[in-house]
Amino acid sequence: MKTIIEPFKIKSIEPINFTTEREREAYLRRAFYNMFLLPAEEVLIDLLTDSGTSAMSARQWAGMMEGDEAYAGAKSFFRFEHKVRQLTGLRYIIPTHQGRAAEKILFTIVGGKGKYIPNNSHFDTTRANIEFSGAEAVDFPTQEGRDPDVIADFKGNMDVTGLEEFIVRVGATNIPLCMMTVTNNSGGGQPVSMQNIRETKAVCTKHGIPLFLDACRFAENAYFIKKREKGYADVPVKDIVKEMFSYADGSTMSAKKDAIVNMGGFLALNDEALATQARNLLIVTEGFPTYGGLAGRDLEAIAQGLEEVLDEHYLHYRIRSVEYLGERLSTAGVPILQPPGGHAIYLNAKKFLPHVPVEEYPGQSVVVELYRLGGIRSVEIGSVMFGKYDQQGKLIPARMELVRLAIPRRVYTQSHIDYVIEVVIEAHQRQNVLKGYRIIEEAPMLRHFTAKFEPIA
Ligand SMILES: *Cc1c(COP(=O)(O)O)cnc(C)c1O
Repeated sequence: MKTIIEPFKIKSIEPINFTTEREREAYLRRAFYNMFLLPAEEVLIDLLTDSGTSAMSARQWAGMMEGDEAYAGAKSFFRFEHKVRQLTGLRYIIPTHQGRAAEKILFTIVGGKGKYIPNNSHFDTTRANIEFSGAEAVDFPTQEGRDPDVIADFKGNMDVTGLEEFIVRVGATNIPLCMMTVTNNSGGGQPVSMQNIRETKAVCTKHGIPLFLDACRFAENAYFIKKREKGYADVPVKDIVKEMFSYADGSTMSAKKDAIVNMGGFLALNDEALATQARNLLIVTEGFPTYGGLAGRDLEAIAQGLEEVLDEHYLHYRIRSVEYLGERLSTAGVPILQPPGGHAIYLNAKKFLPHVPVEEYPGQSVVVELYRLGGIRSVEIGSVMFGKYDQQGKLIPARMELVRLAIPRRVYTQSHIDYVIEVVIEAHQRQNVLKGYRIIEEAPMLRHFTAKFEPIA
């Protein structure tokens, strides 16, 4: 086997700003040890998110020049609509400025008090939009999906039995639709099998409930199916994607993920009445139905990106580079959530810093150290992000204390990843000297974005 190389050449570059440990220690103090408060210029390798951080191709940039900026009926819209239709097989294609805008429109229509929306695992904006409508968002991960150490092929799967019991208990009339997130972002970027999509669809059909895909990482999911599921090894990814969507009655999508663009999204539907309602809302909140909050050039870039993401050389490199990072860390004894997901590696901070109690945010301590040591920006996905307080003001910790290293698409090369590996291993070797953090200021909601921290002496 030869080395898997980046399936592209670099035509345009963006310099990285180098900093010293001393400088970064000062930046950390100034940002109150919160990565969201750091200017991006002070970051060497930015693994905060894979969302909207992709590098576009020459063809996408060329498409930007072709963008038709007509208010109504722009040529770029029809190209976008054609591409999304071809991909999803869904009839009504509604552009939005990002994924959550599609969610907001969808759940404003179908949500509301007394309604329930099941999912394998809701992404946080999906959950927020459902709850904002008054409805309840319910997760059905499988048993193995809940265990960070189990190695299994499809840990993103829906617990289909749990789903059906739930439908019977609350009544199908209270469930306007069922969602399925591919790959399962909140569950660690883990894929969902075709068999699981099929079984979920069968349960939905039996109870007359439409199935919607949260399709942000549909291509990464399809590639995992090709590699791991029996019967798909020789099926082109394009056809796997087609089959995945064949079970869907609708879809929400953040183009900032697998459409390899910096901004955009869509809502795709089969139900005409629902589409009409959605377009009416779109006009109020996003824009006219042929641009939906996007410029014509954005629609061009999305259409092109949706084509490029299906290139199997790209997907091979994409999935393999994340897996490579996971393998090397694991081999060095760094505890990670297993197996590596499609878009990120999650460090298990509870095991990384076993001496730091959850009340002192071990994930935050790892995040700070990765930045201090190597200028790497990661994100805590644990009790800083999901922790709540009980009535006595005591922390109710998150289920897991994770640190996510999300890999932007087509941005970093193998040497960048090798550097990340070196820094994480070095941080792990320093585990004994790392201390916890306390929060000295926080907002009542989504506190991780603005919280201020202080190291515990
Ligand atoms: C990013 C994401 C969303 C929301 O999309 P935005 O473009 O950030 O609004 C929804 N679901 C999943 C699974 C995501 O990863």
